Amino acid sequence: MSNCIFCKIVKKEIPSKVIFENEDLLAFNDVNAQAPIHILLIPKIHRGSLLDFREGEDDPLMVRMFAAIVQIAQLKGIDATGFRLVANTGHDGGQTVSHLHFHLLGGRRMNWPPG
Ligand code: AMP
Repeated sequence: MSNCIFCKIVKKEIPSKVIFENEDLLAFNDVNAQAPIHILLIPKIHRGSLLDFREGEDDPLMVRMFAAIVQIAQLKGIDATGFRLVANTGHDGGQTVSHLHFHLLGGRRMNWPPG
């Protein structure tokens, strides 16, 4: 998508602090970190949100996303202490960027319920 900021980050048209990258996925620091570790993991292919996940076609991608979350948690040393994984979806979910992404938050104790 030409006007999607996360697609521009994938194409390196917008700079980001890359934490993890492979053929399908990119993880980078959130510019507005809400925790000592706040990383966004996105598929390189454009999917607007979880609602655009294509069952069947995207199954391998989603499995790789969850595997990458574990790898990144280990890389950042928060696998032992724990972390929060968030996928804000749509208006009431608080989604502001329409490109599927997981927030990986760690490095402090999270509160519940979320705001
Ligand atoms: P959401 O509100 O769940 O859609 O999350 C979008 C996230 O993208 C927010 O936490 C923003 O801080 C983050 N964000 C927006 N633009 C950038 C950018 N250029 N680089 C890194 N993170 C960004």
